[in-house]
Amino acid sequence: MQAPLIDPFHRPISYLRVSVTDRCDFRCTYCMAEHMTFLPKKELLTLEELDRLCSAFVGLGVEKLRITGGEPLVRKGIMTFFRAMARHLESGALKELTLTTNGSQLERFAPELAAMGVRRVNVSIDTLEEAKFAAITRWGRLPQVLKGIAAAQAAGMRVKINAVALKGFNEDELFTMTEWCAREGHDLTFIEVMPMGEMGEETRLDQYWPLRDLRARLAERYTLTDLTERTGGPARYVRLEETGSKIGFITPLTHNFCESCNRVRLTCTGELYMCLGQEDMADLRAPLRASPDNAVLEHAIRDAIARKPKGHDFDYSRQRVAGQVSRHMSHTGG
Ligand code: SAM
Ligand code: SF4
Repeated sequence: MQAPLIDPFHRPISYLRVSVTDRCDFRCTYCMAEHMTFLPKKELLTLEELDRLCSAFVGLGVEKLRITGGEPLVRKGIMTFFRAMARHLESGALKELTLTTNGSQLERFAPELAAMGVRRVNVSIDTLEEAKFAAITRWGRLPQVLKGIAAAQAAGMRVKINAVALKGFNEDELFTMTEWCAREGHDLTFIEVMPMGEMGEETRLDQYWPLRDLRARLAERYTLTDLTERTGGPARYVRLEETGSKIGFITPLTHNFCESCNRVRLTCTGELYMCLGQEDMADLRAPLRASPDNAVLEHAIRDAIARKPKGHDFDYSRQRVAGQVSRHMSHTGG
C-alpha cells in the first residue's frame, strides 16, 4: 500500500482529469480559434502510456478519473483506453470513471461506455437553438448531440449538461434550458467563461456573465435551496424547489474554491498541471519513458504534487483580465 498523495496544504489528491487529445470536431468560439494548429501525433502519449500513467495515479490513491479533451471521443481507439481504466473500477480501486464530451460521438459509444461501468456523463450544450448552436460551436450540429444524449440515457447513464454562461448569447435561454433539463431529468451546471487562450481581452469581458447575476435571475422564478454537496471542485449546487432539479454553478472567478481542491490535470502530452489557473506544470512523459519501472514515475508525481499551489489568480475585477493563462482549455482539459 502506497502513501496517498497529499499536497503542501494538506489537500488529498483523489481526482485526476485527463485530456486524451487536444483535437476536436467542434470549434467553440470561447475555446478554440477556427484554424487551430494541433499537436503533432508523435507528441501525444500513446494509449498504452496513458494507461500506465493513469494506473500509477490510481495506485497512489486517485479514486475518480474524468476523461476529457479536446473531444475525448474523437481520439482513435479511445475505447481501448476506457476498457483499460474500467479494470480499476472492477478491482474497486477506482470509484468513478467518467467523461466530459461535446456529445457528437455519444450515440455510437454510449452503450459500450455504460457496459464498462461509466455511470455518468457530462455533455456540453450552451444553447438549445440549432442556429445558435451551429454558430457557437462553428462545426457542431445540435440534433447529433441530442441523439447522443438520448443514447446515453437509454444505456442507463445519468447526463449532466454543462453550459457556459455567455452574456448576450444564452441569457435569453436561461429558463428554456432550465426547464428542458428538469423535464429530461438532467442536472444542469453553468460555467463562467474563463480567460483561457489568447482571444483578446475585450471579447472575454464582453462575454462574461457573472453567475451571481444568473442566479439572481433564476431566483426571480424559482425557490433556490443551497445544497451542501461538494465535489472538491469549483461547483456549488442549488435545488429548484418547483422542479426538484439540481443546478450547479462553476464560478472560479467570483468565488475562491481553492481551499478544498482535490484535483490535478494531465494533458495528452503528459504534462501535469497542478492548478487550472497557473502556468506551473510537471513533465511526466520523460520519467514515464525513462524506465519501465514505475518508481521513477511515482517519484515525479509526488514531486509535482508537492508543488501544487495554494490557489489561482483569475480575476476579472477592475475591468481587466488578470491572471490570464495562455493555454487553451482544450489543452488542459475542462
Ligand atoms: N470537448 C468536450 C466538451 O466540450 O465537453 C470536453 C472538453 S471542453 C474543453 C470541457 C468544458 O470546458 C466544456 O464544457 C466547455 O464548454 C468548457 N470550456 C471551454 N473553454 C472554456 C472557457 N474559456 N471558459 C469556460 N469554460 C470553457
Ligand atoms: Fe471542442 Fe469542447 Fe472546446 Fe468545444 S469546448 S471546441 S467541443 S473541446
